[in-house]
Amino acid sequence: MDRSMLYRRFRTLLIANRGEIACRVIRTARAMGLRTVAVYSEADRDAMHVALADEAVLLGPARARDSYLNVERLIEAARKTGAEAVHPGYGFLSENADFARACLDAGLVFVGPTAAMMTAMGSKSGSKALMEKAGVPLVPGYHGEAQDEATLWKAAEKIGFPILVKASAGGGGRGMRIVRSAAELEPAIISAKREAKAAFGDDRMLIEKYVDNPRHIEVQVIGDSHGNLLSLFERECTLQRRHQKVIEEAPSPTLNPAQREAVCVAARKAAGAVNYVGAGTIEFVSDGKDVFFIEMNTRLQVEHPVTELITGIDLVEWQLRVAFGEALPLKQDEIRLNGHAVEARVYAENPTRNFMPSVGKISTWRLPAETGGLRIDSGYREGDSVSPYYDAMLAKMIAWAPTRDVAIERLNRGLEDSDVRGIVTNIPFLSALITHPKVRANAIDTGFIERELAILTSAPPAPSELELCAAVAAVIDDERKAAQAEPESPWQTFGWMPVGRRQRSFAFRVGHGAGHGPELNVTLNYGSGPSTLLIGERELAFAVTPKDGGFDLTLDGVKSQVAAVIDGHELYLRTRNGRFDLHWVDPFGGESDEHVGEDKITAPLPGTVVAVLAEAGATLEKGAPILTLEVMKMEQTLRAPFAGVLTAIKCKVGDIVQEGVELAVVEPLAE
Ligand code: ADP
Ligand code: ADP
Ligand code: MG
Repeated sequence: MDRSMLYRRFRTLLIANRGEIACRVIRTARAMGLRTVAVYSEADRDAMHVALADEAVLLGPARARDSYLNVERLIEAARKTGAEAVHPGYGFLSENADFARACLDAGLVFVGPTAAMMTAMGSKSGSKALMEKAGVPLVPGYHGEAQDEATLWKAAEKIGFPILVKASAGGGGRGMRIVRSAAELEPAIISAKREAKAAFGDDRMLIEKYVDNPRHIEVQVIGDSHGNLLSLFERECTLQRRHQKVIEEAPSPTLNPAQREAVCVAARKAAGAVNYVGAGTIEFVSDGKDVFFIEMNTRLQVEHPVTELITGIDLVEWQLRVAFGEALPLKQDEIRLNGHAVEARVYAENPTRNFMPSVGKISTWRLPAETGGLRIDSGYREGDSVSPYYDAMLAKMIAWAPTRDVAIERLNRGLEDSDVRGIVTNIPFLSALITHPKVRANAIDTGFIERELAILTSAPPAPSELELCAAVAAVIDDERKAAQAEPESPWQTFGWMPVGRRQRSFAFRVGHGAGHGPELNVTLNYGSGPSTLLIGERELAFAVTPKDGGFDLTLDGVKSQVAAVIDGHELYLRTRNGRFDLHWVDPFGGESDEHVGEDKITAPLPGTVVAVLAEAGATLEKGAPILTLEVMKMEQTLRAPFAGVLTAIKCKVGDIVQEGVELAVVEPLAE
């Protein structure tokens, strides 16, 4: 076919994807002066990729097959918006030859290889047959047409156990079973076929020798429509969980220059076998000595940024230039490897609960600035919701440095400096993983995470004096901020410390929700003179300097930074000792069940109103401070029992109130 029909200049690009990759593609497309069109499902109306694009088209209901996988609706969206080209991202329809063909038939440029190349490489069996002919080293195995039981049996016996049964159409680690003995073979084939049929609509299997404790090494390639084909070095993606990548880096710390050259030559040979056009990845497993081809991915890969950071190439820009029909701007010997890059995939999932996906609203989303070698490719913002319908990857954090050690330090620092709340993320797990001594030493294989899971997901240390002090400071700081929002508050005039010496006690428990373990008690002594904290027998002098996202805390003469987020009674702290989730047990703040759902705020004990912290008419979040009572020389802040409107304040500062007296009324927000 005449390639000018396939690849030509365009001005409007539709991105047939969502999340971080849609945002990533939109950024480069815009930088190249293109107009961008996003598509979205009903669950993604307010998603970041929709906000970033020049135009956006609703595809349909949340389920992927009704929206992001609906070829007709996508083509229709392109027609309606005058889009001339389609970038498929990764996942979804990115490796679907029928979609590539449908785009071509509709007169659209498909940013990727031709349907024929995808078909040739899309099946693991077919591509292995091709690679065999091209002289690319393969894992020993069977990838023939015949699928009857006897043939598969014979093949398995010949290869020798352990073997891997793989769906030819597979992806994302699905449809794959390790078989260690003949007895396991039949049930493994049956269940792998069932999974493959459901996931890919195709249950053809291939059998491979299972390489014990392998590494995953892959090579980025890109070809243009003029017959040029380049390799852009390799990535090592050995840190995997259930055959899915978690951390990726470039270059591979395992290969020496000669091995690097060899694997890149093999990859060019592999892609050259189909005269490949577009960005693609040739994947290999390695037994530590040799590399063996396993598959080709005919699309941009999740982990492409590490390659971008070591080569200085924008791969999406190159994809678009190839789609324009241009020749690649550099020759093979002009591609330089500079430094080292490491990427971590940030997921909404709970590593301590078997990596269960976590859905809900992102209440806090604070990521460090993209400076000092740090890059963050994100698909979410504060306030966005993570829905159960799609992949739970939120963002990728990537660090570059001249050396691997420094790149790891920068990435770890970036992860440590991130505060994401509202949903559970794997950020602490990622930190533990990349700082593990064996990861630093590159003494890893694909089974590493599974073996080290207990250590990687171990509970954080118990809070020390520093964290307890930080917890008290966080509560006080939160109340002080609320007081400042109220101009007539006495706290505004006098600071939060009234005259005279006072005490206030706090109790915390480790964890969120109700927390667990014993109550940790701290007593704050304040008033005239320096404030001190009483923890057990110890009395500690401390000082707090508020700043953005937290405060500086000076304890025992050492000043250190604390990041703090308060969400009702849940405290989220980050100190030099790590991350701490604490529950503030406030006996008067709506802790007990009777308070939940009650709209009258009453005095729990006789006392004096010392501060009014919210204004009548204000909309309050659950747990927002309303007023502070002094009860028996101890202060207690009364808080909103649920999100609502403060319809009335029935007291003022200085009032002496009796137990049970109504002090304020909160009306719940209508659902
Ligand atoms: P591999 O197929 O070799 O694992 P990648 O590491 O590039 O290649 O991962 C692609 C995977 O990303 C898909 O199999 C899928 O699980 C996931 N994915 C697909 N679409 C998206 C998306 N829009 N956002 C985040 N992750 C996605
Ligand atoms: P997918 O399409 O799901 O990405 P792959 O064939 O790329 O499937 O395999 C995914 C992962 O499974 C690899 O990265 C590697 O960790 C492991 N794997 C694949 N083939 C083998 C093999 N023959 N021996 C050992 N591990 C393998
Ligand atoms: Mg793969």
